[in-house]
Amino acid sequence: MDYNKLSELLFPHITKTPADYEAIYPKRNLAEDEKVTRFAPSPTGFLHIGGLFAALISERIAHQSGGKFILRIEDTDKKREVDDGVTKILEGLLGFGVKIDEGFVDFDKQDGSYGPYMQSQRAEIYQTFAKALVKEGKAYPCFCSEEDLSATREIQEKEKLLPGYWGKFAKCRELSLEEIEAKINAGEKFVLRLKSCGSEERKVSFKDGIKGKIEMPENIVDVVVLKSDGIPTYHFAHVVDDYLMGTTNVIRGDEWISSIPIHLQMFYMMGIKPPKYAHIAPIMKEDEGGKRKISKRKDPEAAVTYYDEEGYPTDGVIEYLLNLANYTFEDFRKANKTAHWSEFKLEMNKMSTSGGLFDLVKLNDVCKNKVASYTAEKVYQLAIGWAEKYDKELYALLTRDKDFSVAMFNFDRNPDKPRKDIGKWSEVRDAFSFMFDETFDGKYAEVENISKEDAKKILELYKDMYDEKAENNEWFETMKDLAEKVGFAREVKEYKKNPESYPGHVGDVSNIIRVAVTGRTKSPDLCSIMKLLGREKVLDRIDRAINALG
Ligand code: GLU
Repeated sequence: MDYNKLSELLFPHITKTPADYEAIYPKRNLAEDEKVTRFAPSPTGFLHIGGLFAALISERIAHQSGGKFILRIEDTDKKREVDDGVTKILEGLLGFGVKIDEGFVDFDKQDGSYGPYMQSQRAEIYQTFAKALVKEGKAYPCFCSEEDLSATREIQEKEKLLPGYWGKFAKCRELSLEEIEAKINAGEKFVLRLKSCGSEERKVSFKDGIKGKIEMPENIVDVVVLKSDGIPTYHFAHVVDDYLMGTTNVIRGDEWISSIPIHLQMFYMMGIKPPKYAHIAPIMKEDEGGKRKISKRKDPEAAVTYYDEEGYPTDGVIEYLLNLANYTFEDFRKANKTAHWSEFKLEMNKMSTSGGLFDLVKLNDVCKNKVASYTAEKVYQLAIGWAEKYDKELYALLTRDKDFSVAMFNFDRNPDKPRKDIGKWSEVRDAFSFMFDETFDGKYAEVENISKEDAKKILELYKDMYDEKAENNEWFETMKDLAEKVGFAREVKEYKKNPESYPGHVGDVSNIIRVAVTGRTKSPDLCSIMKLLGREKVLDRIDRAINALG
């Protein structure tokens, strides 16, 4: 067969050669350990938490080596694509602070010398490499119809044979140049297939950066390289793109492991060195005692938009994902309280090979710690940013008096032992409902083991002793005096020694006031709350409580 002639017959419009593209996209000049990685999502309208996880790992591996991180859009499957798919991906990644160096670096902006970074804009490149394969006798056109292929599938199923276009089933492998020419002249459509050089007897092995050494049978199937519209399959596009873009490490979901024999074979047949691979296990969830993949159908937290809606601080989510990737992140965080997460060195070989377990409670914990480390001003800015989008009423309350809100967020923001009651901005409303008349429910909950009469007496007496200027120590002295006045123990210790001698202790006294002022038995520092609410509100609430006590 004259393969040169065949290649011209199939690709008359392609005039370049792979060497031309190699000149346009020269090899990167990389330092020894410098890594180039990429995230290559399809614009299907939804960034999955697993996608963010994979992107973060790729970004870390590149940037901690001083290398580059690429965002490439894989839009070869037009059926699954949605209009604003790329925007959704960028919103997800940029929103979480994932820095992109090349490809789609920002909304509507491609950057970098190896573009275009959208596969649909690279058709000519793929066809050039495909033409070269044909010219070397390594790919051929296949004219089989859908019906032909399903007939083959049926036989293979019945005989329990490997499915696909291979061996005796690969009918078009044997077509002569004349036959091909006649079909093309008759306007018949074709796909281009790889003439696999694999053997059933041989195995292929590779070292996965996460899963270690993996051995699999060689690929023997003549897989499709280009579809009938000249658009490549995922496999071929991956090989051509990662070669030309100089990707050193392909880090992707482990659903691609089974395709490795195809990819390694393509690299081999094209005479190019494959990148290093690392396959990430999916994020798992506990379900009825078992484990399953986190699913976009069952779990709202599978979509990254969920974290924005709930108001999780983005760096909290990132730190949680780093935790999920390497359990050692927790030690890093303990030892480096103020360090940015990017200072942590992620190690691929410490990642779970079977998939980390996603846990919203743990996420909330990580986020609570994160929020506790912010200044009140930062909490305010982030909280109003969230509220403006998702809780307009809260937004109006928080922004009515900024100084008031910042002072409120400053309650117990003590650097040594900060209060940790907010893990996400949607918790702000409830955590501080008592600070605004509009959200304070004004119900008086009774304090355990304290009679209504005692409670009422305490509140009445307190009205006269209340000094809005009192600082914390003085304020607590007043609580003690008040305790003594109503026959309660001045000190908790005292009470514990002789519990039967007192109806309660100083802690109960302040709790009665706490419940009157805040409507709850647990709150941040009560003296600070009262100072910020001001005399009028405090006295009004005490009166309301007295009335409620009957
Ligand atoms: N487009 C593929 C996907 O959406 C990318 C896989 C890869 O990273 O190579 O899963």
